[in-house]
Amino acid sequence: MFLLDGTWVASATDLVVALRCEYQLLARRAEVAGLIEPVEEGRDVMMARAASLGIDHERAALDREVARHGAGPQGVVVIEQPSVTSRAALEAAHEATVAAIAGGAAVVYQAAFFDGTLHGLADFVVRTPADGRGPLRWEPADTKLARHARAEALLQLAAYAWQLERLGLPAPRDVHLWLGDGSRTHHRDADLRPVLVDRVGRLRQLLDAPVSVPAWGTDDLRWCGWCARCRAAAEARRDVLLVAGVRTDQRATLVDAGLDTIEALGAAAPDAPPEGLRAPVFAKVRAQAALQAAQDASATPEHPEGVVRAEVADPEALALLPPPNPGDVFFDFEGDPLHVDDRWGELGLEYLFGVLTHRDGGPPGATTYFPLWAHDRDAERHALEEFIDWLVARRRTPGLADLHVYHYAPYEVTALKRLVQRYGTRADELDELLKDGVFVDLYGIVRRGVRVSQRSYSIKKLEPLYMGDDERDGEVADGAESVVVYAEFRALVEAGRADEAADRLEALRAYNEYDCLSTLRLRDWLLDRRADPGGGPAPVARPGGATSGGQVLGGAREPLHRLLLPRHQQHGALLQE
Ligand code: SF4
Repeated sequence: MFLLDGTWVASATDLVVALRCEYQLLARRAEVAGLIEPVEEGRDVMMARAASLGIDHERAALDREVARHGAGPQGVVVIEQPSVTSRAALEAAHEATVAAIAGGAAVVYQAAFFDGTLHGLADFVVRTPADGRGPLRWEPADTKLARHARAEALLQLAAYAWQLERLGLPAPRDVHLWLGDGSRTHHRDADLRPVLVDRVGRLRQLLDAPVSVPAWGTDDLRWCGWCARCRAAAEARRDVLLVAGVRTDQRATLVDAGLDTIEALGAAAPDAPPEGLRAPVFAKVRAQAALQAAQDASATPEHPEGVVRAEVADPEALALLPPPNPGDVFFDFEGDPLHVDDRWGELGLEYLFGVLTHRDGGPPGATTYFPLWAHDRDAERHALEEFIDWLVARRRTPGLADLHVYHYAPYEVTALKRLVQRYGTRADELDELLKDGVFVDLYGIVRRGVRVSQRSYSIKKLEPLYMGDDERDGEVADGAESVVVYAEFRALVEAGRADEAADRLEALRAYNEYDCLSTLRLRDWLLDRRADPGGGPAPVARPGGATSGGQVLGGAREPLHRLLLPRHQQHGALLQE
């Protein structure tokens, strides 16, 4: 978005931003107008990798179109990307697009549109021959790395279709998405148009208002508290939204009742829930707020995160933990959600099955870890079969029949089911393991059984409670970074730099082994808490500053599949989930 001769010109991307977050749109405009300092979003490694893969995907699509139609006036015409702050450049690119279409181009790449208030670049505009469903027409198509059509992408396409119609061309019947898994989806433009008209109207209403700094947390605009921009605002106010488990609708109720900060909620009378909030929900968030306030109050310059504490919330939930067994397994996947290959077309590869057990005959606490690597689909199938076969055989070992497989968050079981379906193998074995309750999700037990003074219930945020001096110190800090390191590994292999590639793999192995060990220690810590059903505060743990990550709202270990979702879908209230 930029100011051109006194008018705010928006892009198709701004339309999407406004759909997701009007606060962000107006805050960005205030930045452009110089009213506020730009917010440092920090380096989002996943977004950067997704962007780079998105460019590859788009180029591959361009190559295919050129191979099919050839380059040139009746084939694929490439429009040079204009500078988005120059009226002359925007108009020239628009005219070049009009000329390409008028010249009969089969495909226009980077088709540019500009009508004085809105501009946009469609990845492709495709000539569609006359058929029983309509005359010769041009229809927009965008490449997206995602596996499914999303509202944001369709809104952009609808904007391009509208612009094509405004050129006097026959109305596009469909708009198209060329997805990361190789599929193409088609959507009727007429179904999208009412939403587009509504959203364009709202965008203009927002941008025609005088520029000002938008207020955070008011009822006028949508807001949620995920991005750096809102985190900073919420932090500054000690907003009650920072309490793990408080949803935005609950925040409104709490704010109306005057409980607008972590401290105010933590100190509220326990038996006086605000109207609109059920008493058990209020009790949960109030107790959570009190714990968080205590942790924050214990912060020092040396330990800015303060001391992490925990208390038993529901002894019955802890009673669900199975008795320990010498055969117990602590399991964790590492996956690349952006992986795609020509043969299968599907996105996502579980490239590491990490398995940790107690060491047979070893000293107390000694563990054995083995990684099953899978750098392609064949290896992924093989690793799946090897893991399931190993587990089935282990359960048949005398004394180990009652073993369980512990993991943190549902992702591991979800991924196993997906793999079994993908390869059509070991379905009966997995069914039996699931039926026998072999897999134990510790996140579910933590969520119900204990309260922790952290803002997030990511396993990394719990580690100060039970990992003692065994702090994470590896090269890989979190799930998003592991995806990037794995991409580096693959690039190094392709470049023939085997030694450096091996270093990357070792960093991933160490990261995964630590996650498995953390799962084991968490299980043991929960068993200790169960043995102390009085539920008093846990022993004072080491300061929380050693943990990584920094999301505002709670969640389990960073589930990478969620990182691919639009931001507004990533939010998840913790305690009520
Ligand atoms: S956290 Fe939510 S409200 Fe805040 S800028 Fe991000 S999307 Fe908008």
